Amino acid sequence: MLLTPHPTWSVTDSSKLEEFETCPRKYFFRYRYGWTPDRPSLDLVHGEAWHEGKRQLYLAKGKTGSYNDGFEAAIAEYLKCYAKYYGEEEWSWNSPKNPDGARLGFSTFIEENDEDVFKLIGAEIHGTVPVSEKYVLVAKLDTLIETNEGIMVIDHKTSKNSLSEIFIDEYQMKLQFNTYSLMGLVYCLSMGYKPGDFQGVLINHAAFKESKKLGKTVECTRFSIKKTVDQLEQYMQEAEQLIELIEWNDATLRKDRDDELVMLAFPRRTQSCTKYFRRCEYYDMCRYFTNPLRFLDKPQAGFHVEWWDPRKVEGRQREFLKFKGLKKEGTNASVRGDQPRQEDRVDEDSKEVVESTLAVSRLRVRSRSGYQDIRQLGRRHGRRLGCPRAPRRRRIFTGGVSGLRHGRRK
Ligand code: SF4
Repeated sequence: MLLTPHPTWSVTDSSKLEEFETCPRKYFFRYRYGWTPDRPSLDLVHGEAWHEGKRQLYLAKGKTGSYNDGFEAAIAEYLKCYAKYYGEEEWSWNSPKNPDGARLGFSTFIEENDEDVFKLIGAEIHGTVPVSEKYVLVAKLDTLIETNEGIMVIDHKTSKNSLSEIFIDEYQMKLQFNTYSLMGLVYCLSMGYKPGDFQGVLINHAAFKESKKLGKTVECTRFSIKKTVDQLEQYMQEAEQLIELIEWNDATLRKDRDDELVMLAFPRRTQSCTKYFRRCEYYDMCRYFTNPLRFLDKPQAGFHVEWWDPRKVEGRQREFLKFKGLKKEGTNASVRGDQPRQEDRVDEDSKEVVESTLAVSRLRVRSRSGYQDIRQLGRRHGRRLGCPRAPRRRRIFTGGVSGLRHGRRK
């Protein structure tokens, strides 16, 4: 083993899983070496700063009933985040993703949505939710509100294009919103709400645009994502599978050596190298080095070592909740078991443990030997339930004038 494991290695959240899905090698550079670009992309900086600002608007609305009361605080939070990476001399180059654009965006949002009516339930709720007996995911709910329609997690997204159907389709599938939905549901249950009260995630989308004709504009739109219990169950199984794959790569990494030509662990996924017409930040390392273990002594130029720990928020450590998960109907045992979990091994300072109950009878299935946990049954058959393997089709060649054709035997 050439690398010394860092305590954050065993902490998982949806951004880590998404990064691993995008490219395992990227995951390796970011979370096994801790190599972080000295200057994150403008989209990332602006998106995070916008997020911080929007939270101030929601906090003000929850307190005084008007978004407008949070306007100055929103601008201040935006600037605090943005100015860390971009000096004033660069702001005009970054337009419309700059403080002027944010000011316009906040006022547009306030103008269009000041009629909103809700009760603020919580902001920056940190904690872990179990996805299996062994693994938990760390998650943070930015804002949780109660409206006439039910309880919703609020999230904010920015882009340079108007909200389109394909954008919504992309977000429907994102792991991040499954984690928010899971944590939101468990949190609501722990607070005494009913499962049906939770209405999913409401996403405030802001499109920052600039054209010669119209100048700078910010389009504020909304859409929501709601997951069924079945979909959450599917997500939990997929998340577990991804964590197991990461562990498998870690085991391979322990055997990899720096005098070998190629590093086998965390293989490259090259279709992600120039996604969205942008070069991946690790492109040069992947293009020229076949075994990254040969240059593990220090980060490459333009990078520094910074470990991503989703349990910590810069400057403010919030209460950290550990959810025990959903309970099986009619039993005292947690669906996800009571074994020591990944998070328990790395973080002992959680302040509160919350357990919620949800009657989910479909988590048990009937088999010849009686009711069984859906997961055990899936494992015994060597596959996951919910994604049954299609019956094998026998194919035969039928031949033909234009060459070989294949068809199914009747
Ligand atoms: S350059 Fe390509 S292969 Fe390398 S980390 Fe980035 S996406 Fe992965």
